Amino acid sequence: MKVLVIGGGAREHALCRSLSLDPAVTELHCAPGNAGIAQVATVHPVDQLDGAAVTALAAELAADLVVVGPEAPLVAGVADPLRAASVPVFGPSAEAAQLEGSKAFAKDVMAAAGVPTARSYVCTTAEEAAAALDAFGAPYVVKDDGLAAGKGVVVTSDRAAALEHAASCERVVIEEYLDGPEVSLFAITDGTTVLPLVPAQDFKRALDGDEGPNTGGMGAYSPLPWAPEGLVDEVLATVLQPTVDELRRRGTPFSGLLYAGLALTSRGTRVIEFNARFGDPETQVVLARLRTPLAGVLLAAADGTLGELEPLRWDEGAAVTVVVASEGYPAAPRTGDPIEGLDEVADEHTYVLHAGTRSGDGGEVLSAGGRVLSVTATGADIAEARERAYRGIARISLKGSHHRTDIALKAAQQ
Ligand code: AMP
Repeated sequence: MKVLVIGGGAREHALCRSLSLDPAVTELHCAPGNAGIAQVATVHPVDQLDGAAVTALAAELAADLVVVGPEAPLVAGVADPLRAASVPVFGPSAEAAQLEGSKAFAKDVMAAAGVPTARSYVCTTAEEAAAALDAFGAPYVVKDDGLAAGKGVVVTSDRAAALEHAASCERVVIEEYLDGPEVSLFAITDGTTVLPLVPAQDFKRALDGDEGPNTGGMGAYSPLPWAPEGLVDEVLATVLQPTVDELRRRGTPFSGLLYAGLALTSRGTRVIEFNARFGDPETQVVLARLRTPLAGVLLAAADGTLGELEPLRWDEGAAVTVVVASEGYPAAPRTGDPIEGLDEVADEHTYVLHAGTRSGDGGEVLSAGGRVLSVTATGADIAEARERAYRGIARISLKGSHHRTDIALKAAQQ
């Protein structure tokens, strides 16, 4: 099977790594990729938002499967010309990707499907926003309706700050605050059959103790020893399957990866958000535990035969990933610095996934983004996986870089 992966972050490196370990995969390509992906796949400098260019590349390579990683190309509709050209593609159409591309659309689908989520108002004026804030009270949750690369959500008790964020967005969703721990649950779907993966938890804030600004994610772990038994079955029945059924009913079936961001509140499980693709950094730990070869699973979703697949097999152990971010991330990441020690990290249980990296002229690896690396390790339990990931981090040097030191710490102590 010839596979082309679209994207160039640690999520795509994790996908490429798993695909490269799948004996069914004879050729692996990635566009645009990064310095780490280039070690396991042939990389192509193609604009990931350009559907015609991606389709031309898939045709040139005679790809048997295209896997679209990030949300931006999905929402831009890159999967559509691929499907029109009869290329099997893992990733939803532009219409179905609105589940992530518009929070108001997601709320509408959830209401129609009876999926439990925060009560909300969609507002377009300052007056509407003020009324919605007062209807729910503090803490206020204000969400930009459109894609905002993880920066569209403000949770604050400061009413003026909430109003200011609302004013900076064209259309906002204002919703009730959900308390309780968060869980990310991914499901692979072909538009009919829904195959949940294992739950994971990510860490969104930049600093230890969940302090500091929101980021794309600073680390993740799986499994969740504290999660209630039966959570996956419950979410499949109350969230994932009804959502997939509703989109099919509307004539815009969702195929690809449906990501449910959940809050386990005192009043039950609620959806915080949907994403239309694998989450980063949770993918790094979920795929680290997947034993079933990945390509066949993604292809079955692409060609509508997921119902015929054997149950997925999982490693009973744990996986932890810790993100190394560049100096100044998330506000003003500094890039272009050499990264040292990368060759000293990998062992049987530990590996480095590249996020924002590129190759320098002399073959050295340079930082090229805010999140630079995702050091991932597996172990018999969370404590062991965690210890290995941090041992790996200690061998890497990148000027001014920072990482959280408390990823999976509480879970490891349970
Ligand atoms: P999102 O981009 O929707 O995942 O939101 C980013 C983060 O904001 C989430 O991971 C939550 O921590 C927080 N958040 C979003 N919606 C709510 C809510 N209704 N109540 C509490 N926290 C929320």
